[in-house]
Amino acid sequence: MKNETMEYKTDLDKLRHSCSHVMAQAVKELWPDTQITIGPAIEDGFYYDFDKKKPFTDEDLKRIEERMCQIIKRKPSFKQGFMSKEEALKFFAGRHEDYKVELIHDIPDEKVSIYKTGEEFADLCKGPHVDNAGEITAFKLLSVAGSYWRGDERKARLQRIYGTCFLSQKDLEDYLKRLEEAEKRDHRKLGPQLDLFDFYHETAGAGLVFYHPAGAMLRKTIEDYLREQHLKHEYQMVITPHILKGKLWEISGHAEHYKQNMYYFDVDEEPFAVKPMNCPGHILIYKSKLRSYNELPIRYFELGSVYRREKAGVLHGLLRVRGFTQDDAHIFCREDQIESEVCQVIMFALEIMKDFGFKVVGKDIRFELSTRPDDYIGSPEQWGMATHALESSLQHMKLPYEINEGDGAFYGPKIDVKLKDALGREWQCATIQCDFALPQRFGLNYINNQGKEERLIMVHRAILGSIERFIGMLVEHYGGAFPVWLAPTQAVIIPIRDEHRAYADRVKDDLQKGGLRVIIDQRNESLNKRIREGTIRKVPYLLIVGDKEAQANTIAVRRYGKGDQGALEVQTFLRNVQEEVCLKES
Ligand SMILES: [Zn+2]
Ligand SMILES: [Zn+2]
Repeated sequence: MKNETMEYKTDLDKLRHSCSHVMAQAVKELWPDTQITIGPAIEDGFYYDFDKKKPFTDEDLKRIEERMCQIIKRKPSFKQGFMSKEEALKFFAGRHEDYKVELIHDIPDEKVSIYKTGEEFADLCKGPHVDNAGEITAFKLLSVAGSYWRGDERKARLQRIYGTCFLSQKDLEDYLKRLEEAEKRDHRKLGPQLDLFDFYHETAGAGLVFYHPAGAMLRKTIEDYLREQHLKHEYQMVITPHILKGKLWEISGHAEHYKQNMYYFDVDEEPFAVKPMNCPGHILIYKSKLRSYNELPIRYFELGSVYRREKAGVLHGLLRVRGFTQDDAHIFCREDQIESEVCQVIMFALEIMKDFGFKVVGKDIRFELSTRPDDYIGSPEQWGMATHALESSLQHMKLPYEINEGDGAFYGPKIDVKLKDALGREWQCATIQCDFALPQRFGLNYINNQGKEERLIMVHRAILGSIERFIGMLVEHYGGAFPVWLAPTQAVIIPIRDEHRAYADRVKDDLQKGGLRVIIDQRNESLNKRIREGTIRKVPYLLIVGDKEAQANTIAVRRYGKGDQGALEVQTFLRNVQEEVCLKES
C-alpha cells in the first residue's frame, strides 16, 4: 500500500492525491472545526482521514462532492512552497491543525514542504501534484470508514472518506461497474446466501468460520484433491498436535518474534500455546530419527489448522480470520537441493493453480521475491545464499518476478505467488520460504557421505495458503457458480410429479455410483419454482424427469448459465460430467 511519504510516480497517482487535497478543502469549507490528518493515493483511489465529532453521512458525501465540483471549476493551481520547521509549526498551530503539528515535529529536515491549492487551502505535503485542480474530471466519493490516527487503536478515532478518481469518465464508470460486481460477489454475502458458511461473532467469537454442509463439501473436495496431488508429488502426510509447549516456541523463536500473535495458556502450570504455524511439529518428526544424505529431500505435508491473534479491526470474512487451515509442507533438504526443490514447488503450484482456473503466468499469476526485513534471525550470509537460491529458481524457469525489498519473513526470504481473479483483483496465495534459521535453532542435521553430521536447509511452502482465504477468493472469482468438479452439489434431479419419484431415485443411484454429488428436489413446489431455486443456488446441472424421460431412460438437462441442453441418456450425461470433472473445466 502506498502511503503519504511515498512518491507518486504515475499521472493517475498524482491526480488521485490531488483529488484528496480537494476533498480535504471541501470538508474544511463545509465543517471548519474538522481537523485534517493524512490523505494518500492508494491502489484504487485515495482517502483522507478526518477528526470530526459528528459522523459523515451519505448526505454529507454528496455535499462534499458538490463542493469539490465548485472548487474544481475554479481551477486553482497546486503550488509547492517551503517553510522552516518553526514557520510551519506556527502556520498549522494557528489553524488548529494538531495532527499536522505532530507530523511536522517528526520531520527530520529543517525545511518543510507545503502544497497550496490556489490561495484557498494549504496542506503539509511533499507532493507531487497535478498543475491545477481543473485536471480532475472524473471522481467519486465512495464510502466512510472508521480509522485511527497512525493506525493505532490507542490513538484518536478518525473518519476516513474513500474516493476514487480516474483520467477519464469512461475509466471511472468501468471501475464503478467492477465495484458493483465485486459487491454482488462479496463472499461474506454469497457464503451465507449459498449456505456455504457463516460466522457467529456474537455467540462464538470473531474471526472463526463455521462451514455448513455445502461449504464443508466444497472444502472436502479441495482437501481430497490436495492430499492426492501431494502424494503424487512425493510428499508424505503427517498430522501434528494443535497445542504445543511454550518451551518449543522458545526454541523456534516464535516466542520472541511472534508472541503477540499467539494464544498462550497453562497446562499443569506449564505454558502452552496453540500453534500459529506447523513448522515445529514437522521438525520434531524429522528429528525422531538419524537421517542420511541419500534420504533427502524429505517432504512433510499437513492440512494444518493454526490460530493467530488478529486485531478485531482487521478481521474480514474468510480473508482475515483467527483460525484457519494451511496446505502446509516443509521440505528438509541439502544445500545443493534447494534450487531444484524450489523449482519443483513452483511447477507444482502452477499445476494446482491451473486446475482452479488460473492458467497464464504474467496474466493470472504473478511472482514476487521478498528479501531480508529489519527484524530477522540468521546471518546476513545465510540470507544472501537463500535469496540467491530462490531468485535463480525463478530465473531458471524463465518466470517474470518483482522484488519486494525487506518484505521477507523474519526467518527467511520468500517467493509469493499472486493470483488475479475474474474482476482483476490480486490475491496472495502460494508462498515458498527458505529457512536457514530453524535448522540451526533445532539442530537439524543429516549424515553426509563422509559419515559426518551436516546442517540441512528447510523450505516452508503452502500452495493455496489459507484454505479459508482461498475459498473466499474462489467464491468471489466464480461468483458462487463453481466449476462442476468443485460444486458441492453437482446436479439436482427434479421429478415433475410424485409418480416420477421412483425413476428419479434410479437416476440418482446411477449418477451417485458414477461419483457425482446429486440430490433430488421432491418438494411440493411447482416445477418452475424448483428450477428457479436451483438456479439461485447456482447448481451446475438441473435434471428434470417426467413421463417422457422415464419411458426413454433419459433426463432433460439444464446447465447453469447456459439453459436448456435437451434430453440425454443417463449414461451419456454421466460420462460427459465425469469428463468435465476429470479435466477440471472452469
Ligand atoms: Zn498531500
Ligand atoms: Zn513452516
